[in-house]
Amino acid sequence: MDQLDHTTRDDRRAAAEALLPELEDAGVVAVALPWVDTSGITRVKTVPLAKLPSAAAWGVGMSPVFDGFLLDDSIVAGRFAGSAVGDLRLHPDLSRLTVLAGQPGWAWAPVDRYTQAGTPHVQCSRSLLRRLVDSLAEDGLTVLGAFEVEWVVGRPDGLPDDADAFVPALSGPAYGMTRLAEVSDYARDLLVALEEQGVVVDQFHPEYAGGQLEISVGAQDPVAAADTALLVRNTITAVSAQHGLRVSFSPKVTADGVGNGGHVHLSLWRDGENLMSGGEGTFGLTPDGEAFTAGLLAHLPGLLAVGAPSVASYLRLVPSHWAGAYAAWGLENREAALRFVTGPDGNRQHAANVEVKSFDLAANPYLLLAGCLAAGAAGVRAGSRLPDPVGVDPASLSDEGRREAGIRPLPSSLEEAARAFEQDEVLAEAFGEELHATVVDVRRGEVALFEGVSAEGVCRSVRWKH
Ligand code: GLU
Ligand code: MG
Repeated sequence: MDQLDHTTRDDRRAAAEALLPELEDAGVVAVALPWVDTSGITRVKTVPLAKLPSAAAWGVGMSPVFDGFLLDDSIVAGRFAGSAVGDLRLHPDLSRLTVLAGQPGWAWAPVDRYTQAGTPHVQCSRSLLRRLVDSLAEDGLTVLGAFEVEWVVGRPDGLPDDADAFVPALSGPAYGMTRLAEVSDYARDLLVALEEQGVVVDQFHPEYAGGQLEISVGAQDPVAAADTALLVRNTITAVSAQHGLRVSFSPKVTADGVGNGGHVHLSLWRDGENLMSGGEGTFGLTPDGEAFTAGLLAHLPGLLAVGAPSVASYLRLVPSHWAGAYAAWGLENREAALRFVTGPDGNRQHAANVEVKSFDLAANPYLLLAGCLAAGAAGVRAGSRLPDPVGVDPASLSDEGRREAGIRPLPSSLEEAARAFEQDEVLAEAFGEELHATVVDVRRGEVALFEGVSAEGVCRSVRWKH
């Protein structure tokens, strides 16, 4: 991203001024400027509409201390984060400014964080992701991505003696038509709100766990896909509140049962061709499509530190829970970390992609996609090859069977994932010294936070944070 000089600032101010009449007509009073911290919590500042041009030109002040924030709002004394000194500027991306259908009077624009000198902040995850997108583009490669969003809806007041308890607000069965009938008005309002905001919804359905629902959206450029992930979640939270429902996107809402995933679909493109299909490789992969996927597979242990970033993530990421607890890939294998999807014959060029199942919605989507792009690009540069695909639940094999098939268990704790990330040279280089260190420091901070806390205690503390 460019240095913000006076011309750029003037252009940004003019662009914001040009938007004002339309926003006033839409009843917008104020604009929310969200960004996601290292721990995965979305933080926000807002400006009244009249201040949008000034915010576009000069940004809005925000302390860099948030780089060191944990999900309980305590602050880690990191090597490069956590200091109360200094200031950053939040600059709204006006190209993504959206009138919020679920929050009348409000618009929303994700921000890039800059220094006061007008250079991108080295720990800005959105700027990092854009740099990685640009670097792939230099090799003629484009990635399309999309997040699936799973969430549970609970009764707003929990239990009589425990307001923070999770009590499913729905009783119908998994994928049940009766559950859909229960959420009929709520789901309609949600779909209308998303459409008004320009989000292309692919599907909505009742999911497996008690009170669980899911929305999947169309694939986009990675920065747009991460922005959309924020917008979808924000919309779900807002529409749920209108319907008197409390929502949780936490990886594990209660200690038993299936958690909330945040599966990510990725495809690699060159000159308008989907490199995940039409090739001579396994399931139609082209050499670059295979190499990208092999890069993801190789770096999965370290990627978990950004894709499954919470202690609660590892309560979800267990075998035989559809969460992808083993480093393996397979065609439509929902127990492999990488589920390869071809789509139906005739539609493969459009539909083929790889789904990373191990990730969840505690993740900062920009950091997560940045990690995936770095890992995939390293695979492409090295011409990496995939091992044989796995066609069974890896948990159904013996230890020896898994060893023979080259299937490794993924990290089973946040500490293990943080160590893998710390030692991953590809991710270290892509993130840069400061952000790489901060991710490690924040993860270790969360590990320390939950030292000795029971699974149920962790679920309870994390339940309403994301
Ligand atoms: N809820 C499961 C998870 O934690 C995923 C279910 C599915 O396959 O969509 O990832
Ligand atoms: Mg699902």
